[in-house]
Amino acid sequence: MNYTQFKHVVVLTGAGISAESGIPTFRGQDGLWTQKEMEYLARPETFRKDPEKVHAFYNQRRLDLKQSKPNRAHNHIAYMQDELAGSPTRMTLVTQNVDDLHEKAGTKDVIHLHGELNSALCIKCQSRMICDHDLTDQSVCKNCQSQGALRPDIVWFGEIPYHLDEVQKALLQCDMFVSIGTSGSVFPAADFVNTAKQNGAFTVELNLTPSENAKVFDHTNYGLASQIVPNWIDTFIHGP
Ligand code: NAD
Ligand code: ZN
Repeated sequence: MNYTQFKHVVVLTGAGISAESGIPTFRGQDGLWTQKEMEYLARPETFRKDPEKVHAFYNQRRLDLKQSKPNRAHNHIAYMQDELAGSPTRMTLVTQNVDDLHEKAGTKDVIHLHGELNSALCIKCQSRMICDHDLTDQSVCKNCQSQGALRPDIVWFGEIPYHLDEVQKALLQCDMFVSIGTSGSVFPAADFVNTAKQNGAFTVELNLTPSENAKVFDHTNYGLASQIVPNWIDTFIHGP
């Protein structure tokens, strides 16, 4: 099987694709993005109570990102987009990641479900702006000039992910769905495979270990993203 048999490929990526670029996954044990810390910090209530602490956490993540480089998995997804560009097969890339490694690899039109570290959102005027520097509770909105109203443009617990209509449309249209480096435990993304499959798509999981919904997938391959993603893409583009 290769891409010429498919009209629309949806690729969903999660924290696992960026792990080998030095950005720990949500489930990582190294104490940065630990589940407990994230569950406290990634909430609008915490931001209202303790904006300095929340800013400090995301400022550090943004700083870490400056040092991070895309790995072979990000690079190969960019390559796949280039290869498909001149063909009738469409590709939609949806990521749960808030890093910019897909963009650094050269992928265009990345749909960030959970927001971006390099973006700030003004809670007064709702405008978004590029943010490649630290935010503090003194930061000023470039649009409405309010002070202290900028927050990280990240979807926190209890908030609705971005671009869901666009993603739903792509899931209903796609005939190939590929999930990469995601645990299948964060909704609504965990449900995307079901939507795609119910609409007849062939479904593929590429992950380090089986995700919570591994059984739903038609094809699975487990290993490091930097190895299994380029292998799968090469076969998808050039055939077995
Ligand atoms: P997760 O942390 O819940 O799961 C990570 C998955 O990646 C696991 O299934 C694990 O087996 C797999 N994995 C780990 N190392 C891998 C590797 N080298 N190659 C392939 N797979 C590997 O991640 P999630 O399901 O994406 O959800 C985490 C949530 O936390 C998301 O909402 C996301 O926004 C946020 N988050 C983002 C980043 C980032 O932007 N890079 C990092 C951590 C968490
Ligand atoms: Zn504003």
